[in-house]
Order: sequence, then C-alpha cells, then structure tokens
Amino acid sequence: MPPSSVECEGLPQGGPPRGRGDQGKINLLNRFERMKALGPSFIDITWGAGGSTSATTLELTLAAQKEIGLNTCMHLTCTNMDREQIDHALETCHANGVQNILALRGDPPQGQERWVATDCNFSYGSDLVKYIRQKYGDHFCIAVAGYPEGHQDNECKESDLQHLKSKVDAGADFIVTQLFYDVEEYLRFVARCRAIGITCPILPGIMPIYTHAGWTRMTTMCKVAVPPAMAARMEELKDSPEEVLAYGEDFIVQMMTQLQEAGVKQFHIYTLNQDALVTRILRRLDLLQEESPKSASLPSTAPTSPSNSP
Ligand SMILES: Cc1cc2nc3c(=O)[nH]c(=O)nc-3n(C[C@H](O)[C@H](O)[C@H](O)COP(=O)(O)OP(=O)(O)OC[C@H]3O[C@@H](n4cnc5c(N)ncnc54)[C@H](O)[C@@H]3O)c2cc1C
Repeated sequence: MPPSSVECEGLPQGGPPRGRGDQGKINLLNRFERMKALGPSFIDITWGAGGSTSATTLELTLAAQKEIGLNTCMHLTCTNMDREQIDHALETCHANGVQNILALRGDPPQGQERWVATDCNFSYGSDLVKYIRQKYGDHFCIAVAGYPEGHQDNECKESDLQHLKSKVDAGADFIVTQLFYDVEEYLRFVARCRAIGITCPILPGIMPIYTHAGWTRMTTMCKVAVPPAMAARMEELKDSPEEVLAYGEDFIVQMMTQLQEAGVKQFHIYTLNQDALVTRILRRLDLLQEESPKSASLPSTAPTSPSNSP
C-alpha cells in the first residue's frame, strides 16, 4: 500500500489563540509541536472571514513554518477585504517560505449578513486562485474548498460542481472537502468530480467529534447531513461527554477505514487544536508516523501536492 499521511488544522478559531497574549501563543505552539509528532504532510492555519484574524493567522503561520518546522498551508479569503490585505498576506508567505495557500471566497464576517466583494476583482474563490497564479506563477501550491453535499449558497449541485471545476481550471492543485459523516456522499461527490474532468486529489475533510454541543453546532452551521443512526445515538448519549467521545472516536475510525477501503490515502483532519483525540484515532488506524513505517511526510520546504484516490 502506498504511504498514508494526515493533515492537521491549526485553527485560531476566529480570534487570537485561547488564553491571553503570549501564554496563548505558547500553548498553541506546544500543540503544534505535538501535532508535528503525528507526522502530518502539513498543517493548516485558518483565516478569519474578512481578514478579522489576519495578523494572528500570519503570525501563527510563520511560527509553525519557521519556529516549529512544520509544512504550513495558510487559508486566505478574498471578500470583505482590500486587495492590499491579500497582497500583504501573499507577500509575507512568499518571503517566508510558506508555499501552500487554501484560496477561499469567505463567509460574511461575524455580525454581517452577507459577504461583499470589496475589490471588484474578488467575488469567488476562483478569482483568488487566478490572481495567485497570475502574480506568483507556480510558486504556490494552491488548495480550494469542495462541498460533497453542495455549497449552501447554491441550490443547483451541477452549477456548484462546475464552479469547483473553474477553481481547478484556474490553477488549484488539490481540493479539501467540507466535513461530512456519510462516506457514500463523499464517494459520489468524487465520482461526479471525475465525471466532469476534475482530476486533482480530493482530500476528505474529517471532523472528529469532541463534544455533543460542538458536533451539533458544526453540523447545523455547515448544513451537513447526519446519518439517522448517528443522530439517534448522539441523542441518546448527549448527557454523557465520555460516551459521546468514545462513540465519536469509534465512528470516525470506522469512517476512515471505509474511506481507506475505497482507496483514500490522505485525510484532512479538522483538529480544532485538539491533538489527544486525533492521536488516538490515528494510532488506531496505524497512521502515526513514528509507529508506522508505511507513513511518510513531505519535506517541510516542498510545496505540498498530495496524491489521493479515488
Ligand atoms: C476546507 C475548508 C476550509 C475553510 N477555511 C476557511 C477559513 O479559513 N476562513 C473562512 O473565513 N472560511 C473558511 N471556509 C469557509 C468558506 O469560506 C465558505 O464555505 C464560503 O462560503 C465559500 O468559500 P469558497 O471559496 O468555497 O467559495 P466559492 O468557490 O467562491 O463558492 C461560493 C459559492 O458561490 C458559487 N459560485 C462560485 N463561482 C461562481 C460564479 N462564477 N458565479 C456564480 N456563483 C459562483 C458557488 O457555487 C458557491 O455556492 C472553509 C471551508 C472549507 C470547506
């Protein structure tokens, strides 16, 4: 079997790291160290909609890349922001060895009802992909977001898929999906992508279950379909945090096993900075680098272009 690897996501979660100031940063850097030990191909640092976390995101991205030595993928949105902010972010990454960007349109910033194309050149994720390619050629490895159940702004799944293809045609190297809990939905999505000529890797977005409240919030906010058996079991367990955690761990291990059986070799794990549960899941799947000679991570300086099938 070809090497398996994992991705982790370092999330500033819409603001500075938890904890205050320097201590918050130290705590997060310690987590990055622990995540590094898991052998990810890269870690992601999210970007607050409208640039609300731009300074923190850039600071953490550079710290992960340069201080911790992790291959880093920085998220970047392009709406509700001036072009100068986009340029500053890209230039900072370019100058500091960050070679992976997840290019996004972005949602409305907190407290606003809709997103706005502040710069008329940036209305969609595809505009940002085009811009990065125009300005930096092949320097960056570019990822984009994909939605197995369709993006919530577009009721037409077919045109949504065509818009995804436009992002790839504009120069994206790989796709990371929205979270999902129905493996068949992801596999159908990949098949539909392949049928319209999207050939790049499509990494499944795996969201472990940390708490009942968090799972409810994420599935509701992202309008993600929940298999009926899962919904029923989570309802039964909702007053027992330990049982939710144990059930969630089993569910995700089973889901990733099913994906592996279908040929998936790399996963995007939304860690929410929680390394303990992710470590347990990866250990059970024999995907930990130090424990598995099968695992391999890319050199920290190389642009990341994961391989994945189906
Ligand atoms: C893996 C992942 C990571 C994320 N990270 C972040 C983050 O760090 N920060 C953050 O703020 N948000 C993040 N998001 C959320 C994301 O910003 C939102 O889902 C946003 O609503 C869509 O961004 P996009 O780039 O996928 O949109 P786009 O690809 O631009 O699509 C948005 C909508 O517009 C439609 N569309 C696209 N092109 C056109 C066109 N030419 N004409 C008409 N309609 C069009 C699409 O069908 C879709 O409905 C992330 C999402 C995912 C899945």
